Amino acid sequence: MHFAAGIEDRLFTPARIRLTAWYVGVLTAVLVVLGTALYLAVREQLLNGVDNGIHQVAQRATEQWIQQGQIDVSALSTGPYTVTLLSPNELTTFSRPGHPHYDPASLKAAYREGSDTRYAGRSGDRQRVYSTRVLQNGDMALIQVERSVEPEHEALGKLLAGLLIGGAGGIVLAGIGGWFLAGKSLAPVRVAFARQHAFVSDASHELRTPLAVIRANAEFLQQEQPDNAEARDIVNETDRLSALVDALLAVARGQKHVDEHLETIDLSGLIETAATAFQPLAAENGLELSAATADDIAVRGDREQLRQVIVILLDNAVRYTAEGGRVHVQARRDGGSAIVTVHDTGVGIGEQELERVFERFYRADEARNRQSGGVGLGLAIARELVTRHGGRISVESTEGAGSTFTIQLPADRGSG
Ligand code: ADP
Repeated sequence: MHFAAGIEDRLFTPARIRLTAWYVGVLTAVLVVLGTALYLAVREQLLNGVDNGIHQVAQRATEQWIQQGQIDVSALSTGPYTVTLLSPNELTTFSRPGHPHYDPASLKAAYREGSDTRYAGRSGDRQRVYSTRVLQNGDMALIQVERSVEPEHEALGKLLAGLLIGGAGGIVLAGIGGWFLAGKSLAPVRVAFARQHAFVSDASHELRTPLAVIRANAEFLQQEQPDNAEARDIVNETDRLSALVDALLAVARGQKHVDEHLETIDLSGLIETAATAFQPLAAENGLELSAATADDIAVRGDREQLRQVIVILLDNAVRYTAEGGRVHVQARRDGGSAIVTVHDTGVGIGEQELERVFERFYRADEARNRQSGGVGLGLAIARELVTRHGGRISVESTEGAGSTFTIQLPADRGSG
């Protein structure tokens, strides 16, 4: 069993990359959503805790003011809290070194609106300030409680760093794991592909010999009894079967990577040679076959495969053109491309069938085609080979008037 590593890698590596990318993408999305939700929930929780503490201190200060007409600012300013009292007679604030005393703007807002909660401080959001207006016997006082939210911000910063580092690590690990898993899940497909490939190749090979023997015997019979219709049928059907086997073998063989036999090819020379080889058959069918190729059109590729493409197109053109028709093959350079056209004045292809002629085993108008001896694989092989060379193949046709097949290949940069 031989493995065609080139084509397999080209088929399976993109699939593996796509699977891994999906895996990583989905995991990243999940991590981002979960991480954001976690961060926001923790933040909310921490800042709510800050506000609750501040409100409790303010509540105690308010009670002292209402009961005693004064506030022990120093006693209330415990832990992270700083209490400030602005009464008709005094402004008392607890003073800590390097700490802002109080926030006048918040006091003003509480004076106007009854209470005020805001962030203050030098960097704008590092002090939480709550101010409230208290009335006692017609006397109004403003009480302000402030505390730093630096510890909360520090904790949130650490959480964010942890989430980012953990998330990035998780994504990298997911990428490695995903690559490995994708490789594992594609492995059976790879093996099946290689087996099927080897099977087609081996089976075609094995079928060739018995077919050759059958044909030789039938031909012998035919020579002995020229009027034997059965013998003639056997020869014809064996030819059809041989063509099918050859095509299958070509498909299986062709799946080897083109890089293996890469060389610079004189496309004009290759076409001229192929056209010359078809002259006798064209003459026999009463067709005029001509070729016009520009000099020096070079492409990089596999000579045998490109020759096969031209042969398939010429063979079709000759087969599907009636006596008295013309077949013309042309090659030219157009910018960075080499363009080959094979034009015939044959039966043409119906509009609905145009799309499908490149499909495997597709044969337009089966009844009409039966005697032409093809099996519907030629154009599928041609397209496969052209695509492998980085090119494109297309067809234009008018039923009853003729067809033009066009191949576009990347020209070799050294030529032209
Ligand atoms: P086949 O072995 O039948 O020729 P191909 O894949 O080469 O298989 O072609 C598929 C079908 O496309 C053919 O059966 C035929 O109907 C149509 N076709 C191909 N080339 C031509 C052409 N030059 N003129 C008209 N019909 C064509």
